[in-house]
Amino acid sequence: MSTPRNTPMNTPRTRKVLGPCSHVLVAARTGSWRTERPKADEALCVRCGTCARYCPTACITVHREGPPLSFDWDYCKGCGICANECPKQALTMIAEGSEEACP
Ligand code: SF4
Ligand code: SF4
Repeated sequence: MSTPRNTPMNTPRTRKVLGPCSHVLVAARTGSWRTERPKADEALCVRCGTCARYCPTACITVHREGPPLSFDWDYCKGCGICANECPKQALTMIAEGSEEACP
């Protein structure tokens, strides 16, 4: 009895199954890039949230009561987009480390 020839149809195929892979994205702490920071004029801010919507690092929180905005300084990279987009010109970019920037 002859052994059947291996053809593409009857050749056993080994499948390499890759195990589960996990990919963890860790956001860089972009606050270290900052040379300027936004400062809010609370009298001008109408809490519209435009600045927070445009912030590329989502580091602005708009509050319903009390001071209108808070910033997560670990992630604010000082790009100034928030100040550019504010319809009330309530945000000003000030130099990082300046007297004004210190609470
Ligand atoms: S965009 Fe301007 S007015 Fe609106 S919440 Fe931000 S700082 Fe306030
Ligand atoms: S300066 Fe840039 S990163 Fe910082 S709060 Fe404004 S938009 Fe966000």
